[in-house]
Amino acid sequence: MPVLYQQLHDATELMKHAQRIVALTGAGISTESGIPDFRSPGSIWQQQPPVSYQDFINKSEARQQYWQIRRNLSAQVLSARPNAAHLALADLERKKRLLGIVTQNFDGLHHDAGNNQEHIVEMHGTSRSAACTHCGRRSSILELQQRIDAGEIDPLCPDCGGFLKAATILFGQRVPDEVLSRARELALSCDLFLVVGSSLKVNPAATLPRLALKNDVPLIIINLQPTPLDDYAEIVINEKAGVVLPQIVSGL
Ligand code: NAD
Repeated sequence: MPVLYQQLHDATELMKHAQRIVALTGAGISTESGIPDFRSPGSIWQQQPPVSYQDFINKSEARQQYWQIRRNLSAQVLSARPNAAHLALADLERKKRLLGIVTQNFDGLHHDAGNNQEHIVEMHGTSRSAACTHCGRRSSILELQQRIDAGEIDPLCPDCGGFLKAATILFGQRVPDEVLSRARELALSCDLFLVVGSSLKVNPAATLPRLALKNDVPLIIINLQPTPLDDYAEIVINEKAGVVLPQIVSGL
């Protein structure tokens, strides 16, 4: 039997015995929707590293760089639609097998795919809102983007004067405690942990499958490139998520 066919068969069989699957999704699940990830070979990140939270707060030139990167990224995110992998996870929920999705993505595509928003934990926030870096006040990202596009350099919060940015978590910024607790609770409550399109190199998201492994929960990884947890997984599939995930879920 060809290797991929065997892997798909084994993944389907493993999932047939699971009732509380938790999926951790990373930027790789959305590349087939036209949003590039940061870590794949040739990505923009290698030429232009993302702005850290500390630099955003302390350096005017870092904020300008942030808005420049965001202009390209937000156009890609706005035009993106869920792909076959997002839709397969929505299907998994309809089949009553999915306990929840923890996503590192801020693109909102799991919501668009039809997963219940109560079951989605956005670890790195969302690019569909703006937030003040000081008081946390949420506001419209479209209005903020319009102010930037109209030439405003440092838009400030009308309430407290803090810097405004998208409501996403930058490198060096803490994931809010309540978000991390919800993600950990899911990892500790599942009976199968599924990784889709994550390099498992970004913490604290990468700690979640380890929590599940400590409970002897089987791990399936679908990712184009190797991850640090491949040796601990029952099944590792190095193929496009949008190609393999629908085949697995349709077999349930
Ligand atoms: P990451 O650590 O999640 O790595 C992405 C992984 O996906 C890579 O290992 C790559 O091999 C794999 N991949 C790419 N296309 C794939 C496909 N079609 N099928 C299966 N696997 C695929 O993410 P990153 O790129 O290092 O980004 C770091 C952080 O930046 C993320 O955690 C996220 O917060 C943010 N980010 C978000 C988005 C988004 O919201 N769509 C996009 C880029 C970056």
